Amino acid sequence: MAATVIDGKALGAKVREEVAAEVAQLGDVGLATVLVGDDPASHVYINLKQKAAEAAGMHARDLKLPGDTSEADLLATIAELNADDSVDGLLVQLPLPDHLDENRVIEAIAPEKDIDGIHPFNAGCLYLGRPTLVPGTPLGVMRMLDEYEIPLKGARAVVVGRSAIVGKPMAHLLLQRHATVTICHSRTEDLRRHTLDADVLVAAVGRKHMISADMVRPGATVIDVGMNRTDEGLFGDVDPATAEHAAYMTPVPGGVGPMTIAMVMKNTVTAARARRAGVAYGSN
Ligand code: NAP
Repeated sequence: MAATVIDGKALGAKVREEVAAEVAQLGDVGLATVLVGDDPASHVYINLKQKAAEAAGMHARDLKLPGDTSEADLLATIAELNADDSVDGLLVQLPLPDHLDENRVIEAIAPEKDIDGIHPFNAGCLYLGRPTLVPGTPLGVMRMLDEYEIPLKGARAVVVGRSAIVGKPMAHLLLQRHATVTICHSRTEDLRRHTLDADVLVAAVGRKHMISADMVRPGATVIDVGMNRTDEGLFGDVDPATAEHAAYMTPVPGGVGPMTIAMVMKNTVTAARARRAGVAYGSN
């Protein structure tokens, strides 16, 4: 039987409606994005986030800095936004040009405004099982799993990929919900042995259709985070033929992608609420 499609476009729209209602309730909510340089893909992502913020009724500031901006100038911009009370959420679009130290820049963002959830304070809280602001992509995947009532407690979850922005936070969120989690990566031997074991399989690698149908157990839930752009279009990490025997599956496009931006907006509201409530953060 064909898999039920997990509709990220519809769920993303629902989350964005929830965010708009929360913004209306909170009053002023401010989001600032910082883009350094002119990477075309980064421009697309920033524009989508700006549009989503405006559609939700937030005040969105769009800072675009030249590609040769010095680290000192970028850090000074971040410090200004950190100190600006009208800014609830702040994100710096990655990747940064090579001359900028990504870790130093991330660590400069005030953790309570870090709506990408990548500051070591927020990453550490997630690791400890006390999530604060969590990266939008894994947060969006959890919302999808919950919306479709996929059981997680005691389930075998396999995450392929261990990046700081997707794979690792994904594994921690699943662990927190009492799944038994395996993390696979480029040095994993016999990947198929692991993926075949999964009740819930999350693929976050960045290689077109690298998870073939025979690597997925019948009845599994398959979340395809991959976004592989080719001249022929956008493709996931999972072969779509998998949908013939999986129980649930996200499409690409229209799956995880629309959820990510929606959850970054949700994080902005979470940050705004926490700041208004005076919640103490690590750096305060
Ligand atoms: P990344 O930083 O490049 O990480 C890729 C991960 O895949 C690494 O942990 C790597 O292992 C692992 N890997 C590489 N080759 C492998 C193999 N043959 N077998 C098993 N694991 C392998 O990428 P990312 O930022 O996590 O993104 C992953 C994918 O998700 C990309 O396609 C990206 O475009 C997409 N993405 C989508 C969204 C969305 O909103 N839908 C958001 C973020 C990312 P090592 O650690 O050993 O190198």
